[in-house]
Amino acid sequence: MKALCWHGKHDIRYDTVPDPILEHPGDAIIKVSACAICGSDLHLFDGFMPQMKSGDVMGHEFMGEVVEVGSETRRLKVGDRVVIPFTITCGECDQCRRGNFSVCERTNRNADAAAKMFGHSTAGLFGYTHLTGGYAGGQAEFVRVPWADTTHIPVPPELSDDQVLFLGDILPTGWQAAMQCEIEPTDTVAIWGAGPVGQMAVRSAVLLNARQVICIDDVPERLKMASDGGAIPINFEKESVVDRLNALTQGKGPDKCIDAVGMESHSASAMGGMVDRVKQAVGAETDRPHVLREMIYVCRPGGVLSVPGVYGGMIDKIPFGASMNKGLTWRMGQTHVRRWTDELLDLIVKGRIDPSFVITHHEQLQAGPDMYKTFRDKVDGCIKVVLKP
Ligand code: NAD
Ligand code: ZN
Ligand code: ZN
Repeated sequence: MKALCWHGKHDIRYDTVPDPILEHPGDAIIKVSACAICGSDLHLFDGFMPQMKSGDVMGHEFMGEVVEVGSETRRLKVGDRVVIPFTITCGECDQCRRGNFSVCERTNRNADAAAKMFGHSTAGLFGYTHLTGGYAGGQAEFVRVPWADTTHIPVPPELSDDQVLFLGDILPTGWQAAMQCEIEPTDTVAIWGAGPVGQMAVRSAVLLNARQVICIDDVPERLKMASDGGAIPINFEKESVVDRLNALTQGKGPDKCIDAVGMESHSASAMGGMVDRVKQAVGAETDRPHVLREMIYVCRPGGVLSVPGVYGGMIDKIPFGASMNKGLTWRMGQTHVRRWTDELLDLIVKGRIDPSFVITHHEQLQAGPDMYKTFRDKVDGCIKVVLKP
C-alpha cells in the first residue's frame, strides 16, 4: 500500500510499504477514507521528537471503513464506518476506567522506554514516536487498529468525512482545553495559537459561554477565522499581547489561558532575541513571545492555564515562582479523546458545531510531502489539510 513515511527532519515521503495485517485477535484493519495533518505531526517533521525511526508511517487523525476484524473483536464488524481516536485505549485499566484514556496503562508497547522518560508509561499513539509505542499511523491506505473494540468512534452515514474526521483529535483537543478551564459566564478566555487546535478551542469556549474569548497569533487569515468564530484577535507581531490583554480585562488579566501553540514557541524563543515587558519581568531571552511565560505573567491570580500544546523534553526559564505566588492552576495533557466524543458527535449531529470550517486544503495522499511544508510554513492560506488515499 501507499503511505506517508518519516525519514528524518523535513523528510516525509510517499512510500510503498507492506499492507498492515491483524497481529492480535482484538485488532481491526481500516481502509482509510480521509486523514489530516496535525500540528503534532509538525513536531515530528521539525525533528523535535525523539525516538522516531526511518520509515515510520505518519498520521494520527484518520477515519474509514472496517475491512477486517480479529476473532476477539466484538463491537466492530466489516463495513462499519469509524473515526479512530489518536490515543489507543484498552478501556479496562485503572486509568481508562477513570476516563484518562491518554494515559492508558496497557496500550503502549514500549512502556518501559516511556516510563524511563516520564516516570510512568502513557498510552500508545498512532503515527507518533516510539516512546508512545511506535504504532503505524493513518496517513496511509490502510491501518491496523489495536484494541479496536475501545479504540473507535462509530459515525453515522449522513455526516460527511469532513464533518466527523476531527473527532479523532483536534475537536476534542480544543474542547478538552476549554473544559479544563471550567469556564464561568464571567470569564475572559485567552487562547494562544490560531492553528487548527486554537480554532477548535475558540469555538469550544464560545459554546461554553465564556463572556469574552481572545485569540493570539501572527497569521492574518488564522486570526480572521478565529474572529469569525467569535474571538477578539490579537496579532503579536503588531501589538504587545500583555498590554492588550490587560486593556481588554481592565488590568485584571484573562481568567483562563490556553496554550494551543506548544513547543514551536519555545523552540523559536530559545534561539535568542527579546520581547519587552515579559522579558523584563522574567529575565528570559526571546525574539518571539514565549507562550508559557506570557500566560503566567498575564493570567489573573487564581486563574487557570490549560495546555493542549505539545511539549517534549525540558522547558527552561519558566517563571514558576510567579505561577506559585499567583496561585495558578495548570491543566495539560494529550487529549482523552474518547471521553468527549459522544457529546461532541451529538453537537455535530445537532448542527451546533461543524468542525469542517477549518479545512483549507483537500488533496490526494500523494501530495502529502508538499502539504507538510505548506501547512508548516502557513503558505497558500493553509490552516488545515485533509488528504484522501
Ligand atoms: P499549528 O502549528 O498549525 O498551530 C500553531 C499556531 O500557533 C500557529 O498558527 C502559529 O502561528 C501560532 N504561534 C506560534 N508562536 C506563537 C506565539 N508565540 N504566540 C501565539 N501564537 C503563536 O498546530 P495545531 O494543529 O493548531 O496544534 C497546536 C498545538 O497543539 C501543537 O503543539 C500540537 O502538537 C498540539 N496538539 C495537542 C494535542 C493534545 O492531545 N494535547 C492534540 C493535537 C494537537
Ligand atoms: Zn494531533
Ligand atoms: Zn487502558
